Amino acid sequence: MRWVSWCKIVTPKFMGGLGLGEIRSLNWAFLAKWKWRIKSCSTQLWARVISAIHGSQNNVDNIPLKKDIRGVWKDILASTKDMEKAGITESDRWGIVTGEDSSSMFSVTLFREEVMKKIGTKVNVAPFRWNAWAPIKINLFVWRSVIGWIATKAALADRGVNVRGTTCSLCGCERESVQHLMATCIMSKAIWWHIFSWVKIPFPLNAQSCQDLMGIIQQQCGSSKWKRVIEVVFFATMWRIWRSRNDIVFNNAKLSVTRTVTLIKEDAFLWVKNRSPYGSLNWGRWCDFNIRDVIM
Ligand SMILES: [Zn+2]
Repeated sequence: MRWVSWCKIVTPKFMGGLGLGEIRSLNWAFLAKWKWRIKSCSTQLWARVISAIHGSQNNVDNIPLKKDIRGVWKDILASTKDMEKAGITESDRWGIVTGEDSSSMFSVTLFREEVMKKIGTKVNVAPFRWNAWAPIKINLFVWRSVIGWIATKAALADRGVNVRGTTCSLCGCERESVQHLMATCIMSKAIWWHIFSWVKIPFPLNAQSCQDLMGIIQQQCGSSKWKRVIEVVFFATMWRIWRSRNDIVFNNAKLSVTRTVTLIKEDAFLWVKNRSPYGSLNWGRWCDFNIRDVIM
């Protein structure tokens, strides 16, 4: 079963997607790099060979090309036409990075970003930001939660899977949708209440979704690094709510709010300590969330 649409997977992260990259833009970027190289490295042997074959006259964009000579070079330059067919007019500036010493380099990544800005579809998953202080697996999980693509009972039932009831695994009352499980379930709320009070942010009574919860971070006072730490804590909370839910479904476990909250504190502590510049974090002070002087 495919949970996330291909469009969301290939769309760059800055446009809300997973950033796997679209193969067509990668191809165009590699071909564009050749065009940049022949213009900027025209004295190199290979460039002189191309010029000798194709001549310096009769060229397009100052790139040597005799149209009646077939071969790889003609195919490389044909990428411009392919892009035009896709509705893109390539700019000379695309992918060019100027260094401090005024030297220029070609960046395949930047070129692809320009292409995707023109032809990509923005995936509306705001407010979600990738956070390198949490493991990739967790980022991916939260991203999927925010766009509503995790295998809750309701999501499975909507896709025709027989799940023998769609009642929430945590509270046993409401339909188990992503937003219910993560934000509005009374049991999740109990966990969130502990977490909000621990990080000293007023509990948002009206939060209805993962997006609402993540959005609260940006409304807080404090540095971007501070908000990033809070974000790691929120990621850990969503991850542990999901793990607890799975423990109930697959292992017949009982939910312990206290135990889950402790695990969230441990997860977030280990991630921030090992993945951020704040390796000197102290567990005792972390438990009181008394770290404002460490993370400025
Ligand atoms: Zn519930």
